[in-house]
Amino acid sequence: MSQWLAGRVLENRAWTQTLFSLRVECPHLRFEAGQFVRIALDMEKGNAASRVARPFSFVNAPDDPIMEFYGVIVAQGPLSPHLARLKAGDALHVADNPSGFLVLSEVPPAELAARGLRKNRRRTPGQITVESFW
Ligand SMILES: Cc1cc2nc3c(=O)[nH]c(=O)nc-3n(C[C@H](O)[C@H](O)[C@H](O)COP(=O)(O)OP(=O)(O)OC[C@H]3O[C@@H](n4cnc5c(N)ncnc54)[C@H](O)[C@@H]3O)c2cc1C
Repeated sequence: MSQWLAGRVLENRAWTQTLFSLRVECPHLRFEAGQFVRIALDMEKGNAASRVARPFSFVNAPDDPIMEFYGVIVAQGPLSPHLARLKAGDALHVADNPSGFLVLSEVPPAELAARGLRKNRRRTPGQITVESFW
């Protein structure tokens, strides 16, 4: 069962009307480059409060003490438009269990990955070397 950690927005940079970057201060989490973590906001719906969470990929390096997320605003989305409006000092929640398999440690050894592949190297008339695998 994962726990929620208290995070605080340090910076929210709007790149365009629909793209933003959040820099977040939070207790350090161990993760591998390529993994993601759920971030969440508490929201009121009618009289009830609910925590809305979505996965976001880490942009920062694993040893960077500040977390960074790059976001796309999905119009009418339950969470992303609210994340895009956060200001420095605002609170958010970060799950304590980063996960995901799109990481280097999941890549099989090169000799296995290369088996069955044949490399074709040729020169084009413009002298650009083209490499292709099939
Ligand atoms: C493993 C994982 C990693 C993710 N990493 C990121 C990330 O780094 N940055 C990020 O912005 N989002 C990321 N997402 C998507 C993110 O979790 C949310 O879905 C997104 O922020 C929209 O949230 P929402 O609550 O506003 O809308 P949602 O209810 O989540 O989505 C509403 C609809 O929009 C679709 N949708 C979601 N994202 C997009 C998009 N980018 N473009 C078009 N349609 C979309 C959904 O499939 C759904 O149909 C990731 C998702 C997964 C599963």
